[in-house]
Amino acid sequence: MKANKSSGRTGDRGGRRTAAAADLTGLPVEKNGEYLADIIGIGHEGEGVGRVNGYTLFVHGALPGEKVRVKVLKVKKQYGYAKLLEIVEASPDRVAAPCPIYKQCGGCQLQHMSYEAQLRWKRQLVVDNLERIGKLRVAGSGQDVEEEAVAAEGDAQGIEVLPTLGMSEPWRYRNKAQVPVGLSLEGGLVSGFYAQGSHRIIDMDECLIQQENNDVVVAAVKRAARELGIRPYNEETGKGLLRHVVARYGFNTGEIMVVLVTNGTSIPHVDELVGLIREAVPGVRSICQNVNRERTNVIFGDETRVLWGSDVIYDTIGDIRFAISARSFYQVNPVQTEVLYRTALDFAGLSGEETVIDAYCGIGTISLFLAQRAGQVYGVEIVREAVDDARRNALLNGIRNVQFEVGAAEEVIPAWRRQGIAPDVIVVDPPRKGCDPALLETILAMRPARVVYVSCNPSTLARDLRVLEDGGYRTERVQPVDMFPHTVHVESVALLVRNGIA
Ligand code: SAH
Repeated sequence: MKANKSSGRTGDRGGRRTAAAADLTGLPVEKNGEYLADIIGIGHEGEGVGRVNGYTLFVHGALPGEKVRVKVLKVKKQYGYAKLLEIVEASPDRVAAPCPIYKQCGGCQLQHMSYEAQLRWKRQLVVDNLERIGKLRVAGSGQDVEEEAVAAEGDAQGIEVLPTLGMSEPWRYRNKAQVPVGLSLEGGLVSGFYAQGSHRIIDMDECLIQQENNDVVVAAVKRAARELGIRPYNEETGKGLLRHVVARYGFNTGEIMVVLVTNGTSIPHVDELVGLIREAVPGVRSICQNVNRERTNVIFGDETRVLWGSDVIYDTIGDIRFAISARSFYQVNPVQTEVLYRTALDFAGLSGEETVIDAYCGIGTISLFLAQRAGQVYGVEIVREAVDDARRNALLNGIRNVQFEVGAAEEVIPAWRRQGIAPDVIVVDPPRKGCDPALLETILAMRPARVVYVSCNPSTLARDLRVLEDGGYRTERVQPVDMFPHTVHVESVALLVRNGIA
């Protein structure tokens, strides 16, 4: 996490700045100096973590195992940043990044690493976090003697961390594109991505991790807007109309939604615009407008209206159908979402009778998956609109043994406990910061036979597993699932079983 890097910074704030700056004199590297660095790891943004005379340098574009020549850009007391000049010894995992704009864009971080190596690295990152942060023992991992001894006293097995489940075709996987629109330096309309470290938009026609259909939508809107003289938004002045094009694609249904985010309600030549989009995008089912007049980086405003077609598109995951509206959260990799949910369902070990809680349930995707094999499912989610979608999705699928409540999991679940709800299984899928301590306490008090923890952040996963282990649970297995190939994001599912249960 970034927190690691910034933790060294606390001392050089305010009045102590001069003292900290003076400390930099004795460092083993100098700013602008050139050095040979050994790369020993990967940082949180995919950068190589290098060593020069025991000093840490972050080197963008370098891979573990490589020897590289670098130029130091910036030094701090504990670590610095350097530019990659030359790869002296290349890693066998190095590949040529297929995307022509990989270096400028920053949307992907690992395209220069073979996919096999990415999957291995993601598993290892989970293992490292479990060991270092969770102080947990992982089966088959090279541990030091002291930890081996501790493990021998307790469970001899250790946690089984399975190989990352990757995609057979790890490209073109995203079902949603959110593309900013702006002015080029010459004053024309462009849409693409922000150049690294700035808000200058670089024009882009194709993104290799995006479903082709989304590229088609963006190209169609761009062409139509240029033709009709619709003015792009200008972040600096707050003038202009078209801010973002959002494209969503129902992977299993082929349905397409186009959302035009505008700085104002009226779109000139709107009928022609809709006509041109419909002509260019055959699968389109919904064309919406979202109005956002705020000077902000947040993409959507509060008001969404339908310009043509339906207000939702549908997609399916497994046997379940979901309605997706312009602003609802829906996992972006449809192929791997199914893999993730099947893993969670498998770990839940349901026979059809159980009471299950799905905490942080979003639009009810996991809840509805579980409901097919459970007695009763309770889902809780903090965003009201998501719960509305969850209820609608339950109706849409005729699933009646599920109930959703709006609120914080750490407040609603204790209330359920007071009402006498006694779950056999609790599934949690929290945001990056992990579970609230009050929720973990409640889980321990409710004593479900199993806890299934779906996590998008291995470090908070490890922290929370430690709490559950100390409270009487044993982590049996962790399954990393690659939801975001070529990026540094790591998703995993952990199965915990209450001690004393076979
Ligand atoms: N399980 C869902 C969503 C997971 S994302 C899916 O797979 O689609 C995490 C969700 O937790 C988000 O929907 C977010 O709104 C919700 N959330 C964040 N903090 C929460 C809290 N304290 N209590 C309940 N839900 C919360």
